[in-house]
Amino acid sequence: MRFETSRALDAIERRLNVDPLATGGIIDLVEAARSVDLDGGRPAALLRLGQFIDALSRRLGDGNTGLYAIAERGAMSDTDFTSNERMVLRRWSDDGLIEMLPPGARVNARVREVAHLTGVPVITRSPLPGHPGPVYLAIAGQGGLELSLAPAIGSTPRPHPVLQRYWRCPAADCPVLGRVPAQGAGQAPPALPSGAPICPRHGDRLIDAGPRPLAMALAVRINGVVRSRFLVTAARPMVVGRAPDDPSGVTIGKWLNDESSRRVSRNHLRFELRDGMLLVTDVSTNGAAILARTGPTAQPREADLHRGEPKALGEWDEVEIYPEITVGRADRPPADAPRGTAPNSVMADAPTIAMRLPPPR
Ligand SMILES: [Zn+2]
Repeated sequence: MRFETSRALDAIERRLNVDPLATGGIIDLVEAARSVDLDGGRPAALLRLGQFIDALSRRLGDGNTGLYAIAERGAMSDTDFTSNERMVLRRWSDDGLIEMLPPGARVNARVREVAHLTGVPVITRSPLPGHPGPVYLAIAGQGGLELSLAPAIGSTPRPHPVLQRYWRCPAADCPVLGRVPAQGAGQAPPALPSGAPICPRHGDRLIDAGPRPLAMALAVRINGVVRSRFLVTAARPMVVGRAPDDPSGVTIGKWLNDESSRRVSRNHLRFELRDGMLLVTDVSTNGAAILARTGPTAQPREADLHRGEPKALGEWDEVEIYPEITVGRADRPPADAPRGTAPNSVMADAPTIAMRLPPPR
């Protein structure tokens, strides 16, 4: 059982990430680990994080989506975790896979701050009234954990100006902001408790490491499953098609059947970011349509896309290349939320027996 547990924790570890461009949800790690109602087991268990990752994968149809987990240092000495779990938490923290806040920091406030700055949805067990971005309420149901999206209370704020710079923490070996990533790549957002950017882990004032192009993560879904994930930056438009001329384009030919191969052009759609706005241009022979949604719970409405004319996409909009082939934001679930099992489940190796212990007396 110990072996199975460590395999499942390894699978969970591979999906933890503090790069908002690689994640689909932001979570308070300890709140998730303390979700005793999921299995009636120990007061805290790291394996429960896997249920949240799988639920997010189901919603997004994405077997590689990452989870942005935030904890506070006290978690590493919390004896409700096993000594092995505390060791794993320390490793995740040292490797920069999770954000570990200073002792006593309010995790919930940082979760909301990261969501506010980046637009990535929050995953929570209790509602967050007034939060201006998308929120998944995680509800334990018959078929496991369900992530229910609340109706939007307005559109998500534009990416914050602080994200237009790269930042570096002066603390030696800072695992979160110690290195400046390659141009165009993402980075954990600074903390802005009083306006000046500081390291969320060390509290040190961050060093400005130069301009950073805005970027957005998009996903190609075929029959509800993400087959390709890519970044669009202001400096680099991206073409999606059967076999784009640009070798760095997004090639979807290998997932098409005979019929869709005939209808999808070699170069079908071009995506670009301009002034923080995502634009799509139809460059195909057979056309495409926009499935527009005003919010997460709204019904999609088909809108025209005129060939060669760039059109702005809303945060919940998808572009349909062919029935069941769509492109949309990687961190927004599609209108037809895929059901059934999570692609690439992290719980495949989890010891089922550990999840069914009776509650302690
Ligand atoms: Zn730091």
